[in-house]
Amino acid sequence: MADEVVGLVTLQFHSGGLLQSKPVDNYKVHLVRSTARGTPGPTLCGIDRFAPGSAGWSVGGGVTPAGHVFEACPGCALVRDKQFPSLPVSGTVGAYAYQRSSQAEVGS
Ligand SMILES: [Zn+2]
Repeated sequence: MADEVVGLVTLQFHSGGLLQSKPVDNYKVHLVRSTARGTPGPTLCGIDRFAPGSAGWSVGGGVTPAGHVFEACPGCALVRDKQFPSLPVSGTVGAYAYQRSSQAEVGS
């Protein structure tokens, strides 16, 4: 049970350094699994962020352009709703995108 998923954390891809980073996919906010060993593995939608040549990324944080409204990744939201509907989503950048969608889509 070392890899039990205890929460979900936002992840944002970017290229360049933190101060001059550029959006990779319009600052879309993905989710990764949070376990006792950190946040291993790909995003919930399956992007292997550890692959050679992958863009950089920030877990739990990232870049907020002025006035930008973050969007949830549809793939991550789908997996979250199916597999982890009750887990909290944390992160200082864009977590609200998932809180809003969970209210609308969970429960059937
Ligand atoms: Zn995603």
